[in-house]
Amino acid sequence: MKPSDIDVYASVNNSDAPPRALYVHVPFCLHHCGYCDFTLVADRDDLVPAYLQALTNEFARLDGDFDVDTIFIGGGTPTHLSTAQLEQLAEILFSRFTLSSDGEFSVEANPDGLNDDVMKTLSGIGVNRLSLGVQSFDAEVLKTLERQHTPAVAHDVVRRAIDSFDVVSLDLIFGVPGQTFDSWNATLAAVQQLPITHVSTYGLTFEKGTDFFRRLRHGQMNATPDELERDMYAAAISQFGSAGVPQYEISNFATPGYECRHNMVYWQADEYFAFGPGAARYINGVRSTNARNVSRWINCWLKGEAALQEAEQLSADEKIREAIFLGLRLAAGIDINGFRDRFGCDVVEIAKDSAERHLEDGLLEVSGNHLRLTSDGRFLADTVMADFL
Ligand code: SF4
Repeated sequence: MKPSDIDVYASVNNSDAPPRALYVHVPFCLHHCGYCDFTLVADRDDLVPAYLQALTNEFARLDGDFDVDTIFIGGGTPTHLSTAQLEQLAEILFSRFTLSSDGEFSVEANPDGLNDDVMKTLSGIGVNRLSLGVQSFDAEVLKTLERQHTPAVAHDVVRRAIDSFDVVSLDLIFGVPGQTFDSWNATLAAVQQLPITHVSTYGLTFEKGTDFFRRLRHGQMNATPDELERDMYAAAISQFGSAGVPQYEISNFATPGYECRHNMVYWQADEYFAFGPGAARYINGVRSTNARNVSRWINCWLKGEAALQEAEQLSADEKIREAIFLGLRLAAGIDINGFRDRFGCDVVEIAKDSAERHLEDGLLEVSGNHLRLTSDGRFLADTVMADFL
């Protein structure tokens, strides 16, 4: 369906039960890291004022005010904005949205440049959860990833952030070219020395269009062998589990009670608002994504025109399959009774052949009232989950 066939903003305004989660995308970074395919521009701070005006116009398209339980500002690097621009961003989103008194307000940040003024500004606008792109505590790995900070800076920032925010989450990357198992192990050990309650770990992927993808194709870079990458993932699962920060999602670990509430909305296939270039939303059964080209998104909204890349009204069957696909990401899996109450059908029956095959081959299991991936299944999650789409 063409994006122009769906007015997603009218769909928000007409929704009986508007989403309770809000995402805002900030597409600015100091440097474009070679592996990154997120929606962003590097070294284009001149665009920030126009971006903030465009964002104001996108928020103004909503009628009325909305209450939410979670806000997540992601990027890019949101903390690349100046403190005055961060305050302006907060004014824009609070012009339409109110966060519940026990709400979760997350912001993504990079260690470089995260000084006390920025932390104070974030606390001042209500941020209570900081998601830090530490990626590694190995200087060589950080260099390969083209990150601007050093392990010492990351340590310092993490310690100061812990004093300022209720939750500090660390992002880590494994499977980086040249990264050894010992290097990864040392990073895992360094994290466990810190009083951290949430960690996200991602295996490096070579996305089409990135510099890393080009270098891989030209033989200038080697991918990590599958077996080593699997061992690295297994080490994270085992070590964080032993340290009281168990895996609760394919890529996420948390001390019980510290799971990211905003991301749980995605994995539970609930609906959410989203603003900014490349931002994806799910409202009134419609999934839609804003234009990924930052300049195009800005220019459209400066003229008051919606800048959508794609929009799709999900059928009842698609909603069910998505809920299975997303729910299997969670370590707890899918609540079988809850699924029946919500969709009026049995989760195992829906994809009978796939479900039975994976129950037999030991990649899926029914545990109590939940259908979930087994510990072996988590290593083949993409394959198993794709069978349900
Ligand atoms: S800082 Fe993060 S968002 Fe920005 S280019 Fe690097 S990986 Fe991508």
